[in-house]
Amino acid sequence: MRLDDFDPDNVDVGDQRGRGGGFPGFGFGNGQGFSLGGGGLGIGTIILLMIGAWMLGINPLSVLGLAGSGAGSGPASAPTAAGSDAASSCRVDRFSLESCNALASLNTTWSKTFAQAGYPFSRPRLWFYSRYGRSGCGAAQSAMGPFYCPADHGIYLDTDFYREMDQKLGAKGQFARLYVIAHEYGHHIQVLRGVSDKISRLQQSEPDQANHLSVMLELQADCYAGVWAAKNRDRLEPGDMESGLNAAHQIGDDVLLAAAGRTPTESAFTHGSAAQRMAWLKRGMETGDPAQCNTFKAIGTAS
Ligand SMILES: [Zn+2]
Repeated sequence: MRLDDFDPDNVDVGDQRGRGGGFPGFGFGNGQGFSLGGGGLGIGTIILLMIGAWMLGINPLSVLGLAGSGAGSGPASAPTAAGSDAASSCRVDRFSLESCNALASLNTTWSKTFAQAGYPFSRPRLWFYSRYGRSGCGAAQSAMGPFYCPADHGIYLDTDFYREMDQKLGAKGQFARLYVIAHEYGHHIQVLRGVSDKISRLQQSEPDQANHLSVMLELQADCYAGVWAAKNRDRLEPGDMESGLNAAHQIGDDVLLAAAGRTPTESAFTHGSAAQRMAWLKRGMETGDPAQCNTFKAIGTAS
């Protein structure tokens, strides 16, 4: 996908790299890829992190795009963007520049779509970090994969994850990386439209439906990623669609669970099966219409 004509300075970026890896007051005790303690974490956040631990116990990579489905809106202190300079942060390496260009394109596409519909819009902030970071939703760790934090409207990304995608997940190609950012941006759209809040409340009142509801949120974010691609069809290059669909397949819950040597059980899915993820990304890419991304209507909600 051609994005190099976007102005990488016209994005909101924060950078936590180059601070010696990690922050005082955050312990990383159990080696399973999540962190507890310190930093004024509330009990709600700790419970969410424990749920995260359970998920990470399955496979750290299975929580790709963790937030939006429950990384939560805990009271942890959000980092501040003071001193961050988009121009230099975006030029640290080619993955950073590509991510900033993608973000600039996503901002342009979605602000226009919101304006046409008469909805208020605000931009998310892209946070780069290296290995360990902190977010408005608590500690961030690379093994969690990229995630969106509803509490501070931040997309958190360790660009090393892209190497992981390529080498370990078999999700190759530039468009596979763009799909990741576009998916996280999809969670931002859900927050702006009030979908996230509504689903969080439903998950609390009907805990046995929590995973099912999470799958619907995740598939909607996949569909929104496809909508962005469709609205920039003239920028797509041969192989992009295949690269995106392959990535969607490789991070399907059933594929990740099988790769981890576990039996895929649908009730344990939080992001959707490979087939579902591919289908919803494709639906977005083919229609270019966010109204077609109503996974709740298509799959059925708990109420
Ligand atoms: Zn997600």
